[in-house]
Amino acid sequence: MSTTEPTDDVPSRLAATLKAIRRAERSAGRAEGEVTLVAVSKTFPADDIEPALAAGHRAFGENRVQEAKAKWPGLRERYPDVELHLIGPLQSNKADEAVALFDVIHTVDRPKIAQALASAMRAQGRRPRLFVQVNTGEEPQKAGVPPREVDAFLASCRDEHGLTFEGLMCIPPVDEAPAPHFALLDKLARRNGLKGLSMGMSSDFAEAVALGATHVRVGSAIFGARPKP
Ligand SMILES: *Cc1c(COP(=O)(O)O)cnc(C)c1O
Repeated sequence: MSTTEPTDDVPSRLAATLKAIRRAERSAGRAEGEVTLVAVSKTFPADDIEPALAAGHRAFGENRVQEAKAKWPGLRERYPDVELHLIGPLQSNKADEAVALFDVIHTVDRPKIAQALASAMRAQGRRPRLFVQVNTGEEPQKAGVPPREVDAFLASCRDEHGLTFEGLMCIPPVDEAPAPHFALLDKLARRNGLKGLSMGMSSDFAEAVALGATHVRVGSAIFGARPKP
């Protein structure tokens, strides 16, 4: 796929992705429609997102608060039932904006972020659903709580800030098979009584569904290749 590829086939790629998810649900013996497709629209302008909305899709993922703030309020006027997911790193000074804009935040990974979110949630009376990002590959450059610290992090978020979580999220290392990372995330979630598993992207979402994903985050398979950062 090239970056100049027209995106007027977004609805057909979206439909193909949904179909592949439904197929993976069936072959894993899971209930049809159990998995939420978060269509990752980062870097794509509102004009490219609109066809997916017109096709009836409502769950979208963005990785930057500022970009989402520029794109989504206008789209939301026309599609008020949109569900917006923050899937990128969050700075504590953006917590207020994130709580105001997003319905689900997948990337809670530090006490400072937890505290900033808790105070923004109190102030605004909004409660976005929360996931803890886990650095399953323990990669030094990557965000996320190390696996061995997940239980304690969840407990301190609960005890110190009154935060409850829907689940865990991971981004496996690019050069490793994703399945062991998905299985580890599932194990950590079960141990903590969490039902949500945000895992799986364009290249591996079917495998993630087979291993229990409740949310897959798929971008390029729907919107086309993104320009390299
Ligand atoms: C960009 C991104 C995705 C989507 O990646 P694709 O390979 O385009 O499907 C999923 N999750 C996160 C956290 C991302 O930043």
